[in-house]
Amino acid sequence: IDKLPPKLKAMVKRRKILGGSYRLFYKEPLDFEEGHGTKLYTPDGTEYLDAYNNIPSLGHSRREIQEAVSKQLNKINTHTRYLNQNILNYAEDLLATFPKELNRVMFMLSGSEANDLAVRVAKAATGGEGIIVTAEAYHGNTALVTGLSPAIGSDVPMDISMRMIPTPDTYRLGTDDIGNWMAAQVEKQIADMQRHGIKFAGIMLDSIFSSDGIFPGKKGLLKPVIDMVHKHGGVYIADEVQPGFGRTGETFWGFQRHGIVPDLVTMGKPMANGIACSALVAKSDLLKEFSKNTPYFNTFAGSPVAMAAAQATLDTMKKDNTQKNSLDRGKELASKLRDLAKKYPVLGDVRGVGLYIGVDIVKPGTKEADYNYAVRLIETMRENHVLLSLCGPHGNVLKIRPPLVFSKEDVIRFVDMLEKSLDEMENKKE
Ligand code: PMP
Repeated sequence: IDKLPPKLKAMVKRRKILGGSYRLFYKEPLDFEEGHGTKLYTPDGTEYLDAYNNIPSLGHSRREIQEAVSKQLNKINTHTRYLNQNILNYAEDLLATFPKELNRVMFMLSGSEANDLAVRVAKAATGGEGIIVTAEAYHGNTALVTGLSPAIGSDVPMDISMRMIPTPDTYRLGTDDIGNWMAAQVEKQIADMQRHGIKFAGIMLDSIFSSDGIFPGKKGLLKPVIDMVHKHGGVYIADEVQPGFGRTGETFWGFQRHGIVPDLVTMGKPMANGIACSALVAKSDLLKEFSKNTPYFNTFAGSPVAMAAAQATLDTMKKDNTQKNSLDRGKELASKLRDLAKKYPVLGDVRGVGLYIGVDIVKPGTKEADYNYAVRLIETMRENHVLLSLCGPHGNVLKIRPPLVFSKEDVIRFVDMLEKSLDEMENKKE
């Protein structure tokens, strides 16, 4: 192995030491040494445009976060069993971004932990077991939420009290009334739970259905769905790991696009711009039953350093109005992609909200997913130094989800490189 070129050697070593569960992006994986703003750099200084990473939503190596973390590390870092003002200051500022009914917050380190706790709270509050998710949902990697994440694949055992509703595929379903269609699907699954003696506890939804293939749909579409959940005594857990913190541009939280108030909300990824930090926000009455019997401690969560990073992130998001940038750049990007779709029939559908855009890659003239073309396209984009990924049940939807500080120039570069990549692929075919 010592004779192998350095990259190959690193790949072989990874496989050997880290085991088979770790997956890398791209046939020829990338090694980044630096990141600044919306750009990443390999050791030889080659620049890549980042249209994929939503965690550093304020940009890579953001100064405000570095300063806040370093200042706090120089003072003290402990845990939530001592009083510390950072956690209270941040908790108040975070809750101020929510409707007033959502007035409690607990801190974790990952989206998975937040969803895990949300499900436990939902079960305690309702006395139920059954949770509904969408057919391609991903909600995390703990034992509990893995069982509620069908996207992981058919080899992973699912929770026996979990039920799925189909992906709300606005492109292929051929109905304008997705909301009522989904509500009917939910009712069907609640009835199925009843038939099997499972008490319904609630539904967990990512309001832009990111792993399902990015289907934000029209504003308000989730209203009938959540009314149905409440009618049957269940709770609504909004998984805001993807749409939260201004990503959708229209509102700060994804659920707010639908004029609904969740019972529980989970968030993570961009919360501290890359420092591990996640949270569960809840209506106080829902937490009562759980908190009565269950103490909660999570060693690193809610630490003064994590809270300093989260505070600096929230403050900077407000100062720079990244939500507005997401809305404006998202509109520009979607509109340019729609223009491109007129010229290139493989771009079947362009959809999204804010800087979360999906492009359905299809066999021209049909709505049939073309996974192989999509994979070749993101590999070609990589050759043209642009990073993005794929999602959806057929893995054929371009997942465009850049840092929220994506600029007008970045939008133009992205579209130019996509056009170049599509042309290169057409030329290769001939
Ligand atoms: N929920 C959603 C919607 C996610 O996309 C993810 C991560 N991809 C998670 C939960 C889990 O978050 P984490 O990886 O931070 O545990």
